[in-house]
Amino acid sequence: MFEDERRIETRAIHAGQEPDEETGALMTPIYANSTYAQDGPGDHRGYEYSRTGNPTRTDLESNLAALENGSYGRAFSSGMGAINTVLNLLEAGDHVVAGNDVYGGTHRIFTQVYEKYDLEFDFVDTTDHDAVRDAVRDETELVWVETPTNPLMRVNDIAALADVAHDADALCAVDNTFATPYLQRPLEHGADIVSHSLTKYLGGHSDVIGGALVTDDAELDEEIAFYQNSVGATPSPFDCFLVLRGTKTLPVRMDRHCDNARELAAWLDDHEAVSEVFYPGLDSHPQHELAAEQMDDFGGMLSFELDGTLEQASTVVEETEVFTLAESLGGVESLIEQPAAMTHAAIPREERLEAGLTDGLIRVSVGIEHIDDMKADLQQAFSAAF
Ligand SMILES: *Cc1c(COP(=O)(O)O)cnc(C)c1O
Repeated sequence: MFEDERRIETRAIHAGQEPDEETGALMTPIYANSTYAQDGPGDHRGYEYSRTGNPTRTDLESNLAALENGSYGRAFSSGMGAINTVLNLLEAGDHVVAGNDVYGGTHRIFTQVYEKYDLEFDFVDTTDHDAVRDAVRDETELVWVETPTNPLMRVNDIAALADVAHDADALCAVDNTFATPYLQRPLEHGADIVSHSLTKYLGGHSDVIGGALVTDDAELDEEIAFYQNSVGATPSPFDCFLVLRGTKTLPVRMDRHCDNARELAAWLDDHEAVSEVFYPGLDSHPQHELAAEQMDDFGGMLSFELDGTLEQASTVVEETEVFTLAESLGGVESLIEQPAAMTHAAIPREERLEAGLTDGLIRVSVGIEHIDDMKADLQQAFSAAF
């Protein structure tokens, strides 16, 4: 584990970031370099070429590792670039078990890119540990976990799933994008790899696309670094700078996201236009206890079911003003979307309904605006729809 006794609020600001030795510049400079002068052939000062390594990226990677309480971080040009790298660790013929409600892009790269290269995937309900155990076979080399999941905020037990993976000599990777290391650190629960879309809460300002992998295992990190450099989905120094700027305020932003989401979930739960609210912080959530154990707070994502038609739900998401109608999540601004018509529209209706993704389902990324403005905005949108 990462050796830093300081608390996460302090690490977020200082880990991996010392004032520049020569100039005293407080912030990590944007090292806009493709290449580096060598003192003799092969005699360099740690950097040769920026796909392989760049000082701005190094600081970001150290910062992300420290946040996850891991020893090694690697940054990518997108969350998908990071996920791709985990798949690069596998061989043709290997088998992967993943949740049946993983992020759409994850499902797509698994089935539409890597099945072609003879990797096999099984998608199961990862809250059902027997189902996961049943799906595991000799060829299983990876168990892929997301928690909380999208858009129904199901919570998966990382320690239990890591045990299933390890009993089968497989790796356990956890996509920690929704919770962030401020609320949940999967390596502490036995995961081998943590994956992130930096695009969401870690960047936090809806202005950059990025990804990361963090591990505690030197050999695994060496392999990850090999594929990071070989494939080349690496972030620009400017993108690294933006994410470093974001992670400094992660703890204060997350506190506000969580407070606002908690209050909004309770308000929606009491509202006559709403039939169900999906938020791990509610007592009624099926994995509330597990969430309380595994997470330090319940996050800023929630969804709810409008007691109405697909059209009425569409009206609500069109009429909000504080909530912007958009995909993505994790920025300071509140976003709203309708999975049945947007992020999950590609799934056939019957299948979608079976998965609990009803026509009236609305997903919200609760921002850090004032909670009263959010409630008033949703109220006027409900009034327009009913
Ligand atoms: C957005 C997201 C990704 C993909 O990240 P990009 O940065 O968009 O490539 C992966 N997993 C989860 C849970 C996400 O929300």
